[in-house]
Amino acid sequence: MPLLMIPGPVEISPRVLEACSGAPSSHLAPDIIEAFGASLGLMRKAWLASDSAQPFVLPGSGTTAMEMAATNLLDPGDEAVVVWTGYFSDRMAEMLRRRGVKVTVVEAEPGDVPSLDAVGAALGSGSPRALFATHVDTSTGVRVDARALARLAADRGALSIFDGVCATGGERFEMQAWGADVYLTASQKAVGLPAGLGLLVVGERALEARKRLRVAPPLSLDFDSWIPIMRAYEERRPSYFATPPTTLLRGLLVALEEMLDGGMEARFAEHERAARRMRAGWGALGLSLLPKREEITANTLSALYLPDGVGPELAAEIGKRGVVVAGGLLPALRTRYFRVGHMGAVLKRPEALRATVGAVGEALGALGHRADVAAALSAFET
Ligand SMILES: *Cc1c(COP(=O)(O)O)cnc(C)c1O
Repeated sequence: MPLLMIPGPVEISPRVLEACSGAPSSHLAPDIIEAFGASLGLMRKAWLASDSAQPFVLPGSGTTAMEMAATNLLDPGDEAVVVWTGYFSDRMAEMLRRRGVKVTVVEAEPGDVPSLDAVGAALGSGSPRALFATHVDTSTGVRVDARALARLAADRGALSIFDGVCATGGERFEMQAWGADVYLTASQKAVGLPAGLGLLVVGERALEARKRLRVAPPLSLDFDSWIPIMRAYEERRPSYFATPPTTLLRGLLVALEEMLDGGMEARFAEHERAARRMRAGWGALGLSLLPKREEITANTLSALYLPDGVGPELAAEIGKRGVVVAGGLLPALRTRYFRVGHMGAVLKRPEALRATVGAVGEALGALGHRADVAAALSAFET
């Protein structure tokens, strides 16, 4: 099997793989009730959320979780601010527009984030009820300052919603301490499962916002459809609204246990350390990162400019060496960069990270770019 080093789906741990395999269970089976119920409690811990926050596990993906956030908090005609950092900011803004929300997008250059002053100004004009931001934008490798944005929103009386699909479980996020209202992700990114689940934790203020809506969200995305189900499973009672992927629920419990084993501090530090080693390798290969500054550079993936004379065929050349990486995603730059994911269970296998740096270096060499692979590997080791 090739090594899967894209920004999702990612390599999963042997224990998660084992938990997800086998015959599917009924959603009413005792092992599924336990896995579902226990996972909800562990999500609060992994999200560093308060006891009153409501976790949701949904059949679907990150996009499903985004649409739930876009439709349960605001009525048509309400105003919202979207912090633009790349491809997924555009998706969030479009979901909100389709809900009839008046959206102000605060722009930035690709590879940068809007200034807090610009976001503050957008929040100060009109009466936006919510601020949406992508914690790590998968198209640019840029990470926003979620703590500062959450505080800014709270100061202005707006909800803050963070798309953590490429971040949750890899990048520091303290939902309760930072006062963030919604933090959402998908199963196939840093959480480390196959694709198929949307995962959200929703704070009390956001749950209140749903109660005040005049226009109900789509039934399958409505907090109100799912809250009774989540409460029932957390009390270890089966319940039904729409069938969950039961094999993934078995894996979810194991993935969350592995994530929390050692604590979230250790988990964040592990991602930071791995990212530093990968970046040392990239630097030695003469590659430069799309994010413009270190403090906005994500730890979960690297978005790297293709060097002069090397085209998007690099990804296929790396693939020949047994490592799957991703091409560009941001339309404006799509053919000028490539992306490597480094999140989740694979970080427990430094040899896999090392092999990735080696494969990128050799592929660059095969395409005529002078790359010192030995120097890159030794930079990775230090
Ligand atoms: C992957 C991703 C999504 C979309 O998730 P899907 O599971 O593909 O629907 C949304 N936002 C971000 C930041 C992502 O990385």
